[in-house]
Amino acid sequence: MNRELQEICHAYQMQLQENISLASHTTFHIGGNADFWIEINSIQGLGKLLQFCHEKKINYFIMGRGSNILVSDKGYQGVILHLGNCFSEIKIHDEIILTCQAGAMLSNIAKFAMEHHLTGMEALSGIPGTVGGALYMNAGAYGSEMKDIVTECSYIDNSGKEYCLKNKDLDLSYRHSFFTEHTGAVITSVTICLQKGNPEEIAEKYADFAQRRKSKQPLNYPSAGSTFKRPKGSYASKLIDECGLKGYQIGEAQVSEKHAGFVINKGHATCQDVLDLCQHVHDVVLQKTGYLLELEPVLLGMQGGK
Ligand SMILES: Cc1cc2nc3c(=O)[nH]c(=O)nc-3n(C[C@H](O)[C@H](O)[C@H](O)COP(=O)(O)OP(=O)(O)OC[C@H]3O[C@@H](n4cnc5c(N)ncnc54)[C@H](O)[C@@H]3O)c2cc1C
Repeated sequence: MNRELQEICHAYQMQLQENISLASHTTFHIGGNADFWIEINSIQGLGKLLQFCHEKKINYFIMGRGSNILVSDKGYQGVILHLGNCFSEIKIHDEIILTCQAGAMLSNIAKFAMEHHLTGMEALSGIPGTVGGALYMNAGAYGSEMKDIVTECSYIDNSGKEYCLKNKDLDLSYRHSFFTEHTGAVITSVTICLQKGNPEEIAEKYADFAQRRKSKQPLNYPSAGSTFKRPKGSYASKLIDECGLKGYQIGEAQVSEKHAGFVINKGHATCQDVLDLCQHVHDVVLQKTGYLLELEPVLLGMQGGK
């Protein structure tokens, strides 16, 4: 498979790397190596790789910024298809519509919007992921979510066929989309509609949201953001805090003292440290409050994950 992968990558001018550390490609800085890592730079190249992996029954995984992923200490046996910088063009049309390749970072889209005096991205600007990853999870913050701004998206399936889905067909709800149910599908571009706004007000909002994150979140430690989904009727961070678990640590994984909703990597946490800590938090919260906490990050390379 190595030679065939190399041939495809060569033909489409994509970079192929072997035995790559996933700890250095995820914001948690945790996990073993992946057999192969390919930098996607075109829909054609992506389509060819998807077809190849499908036909040869080779495991593959789509990665954006890796900001919502917990990777096994054993790593991932298969091919990581990375939609990042090489697939991150942002185009504007009709003054208020942005069409973004899936690897574009939300922060760069927000900056682009600000430069074009467009409002609507400010609350999402601090989410450290790609627009593809954000649509996959219907990411949201401070009362805004992808659902509010996306008009349509394009995706490709494992036969290399391209499709377009409108907002109403994307099945977007809290941390859920069409794509969380159809994991073989790869989002290639996302179209968002913003509004004309006042440049000073946009800049002020942008700075305000950034300041709120900085003051509330443990941004100086590696993490995957909120570790647990919001349970119906409460907030994970509130429940964890009320159970006295702030600062609780297993190995080098810790429930952040600054924000109980974040599990942080204090230095050399293993995936197992994080899983053990999350299990403990889950059990204590269930026992003391009756609420069932569910992990938010996607698990990669382990049983029950991808
Ligand atoms: C400090 C910090 C703060 C955060 N704050 C927030 C927040 O406020 N709100 C929030 O919602 N999240 C937050 N997150 C979590 C995370 O940033 C978001 O979920 C983000 O949208 C993930 O994007 P990504 O590109 O990193 O996706 P990845 O982590 O790379 O992937 C996540 C999932 O999406 C899939 N995926 C990625 N790209 C594609 C694609 N093109 N097509 C199909 N599937 C794809 C992957 O296969 C995987 O299953 C935070 C994370 C951190 C570290």
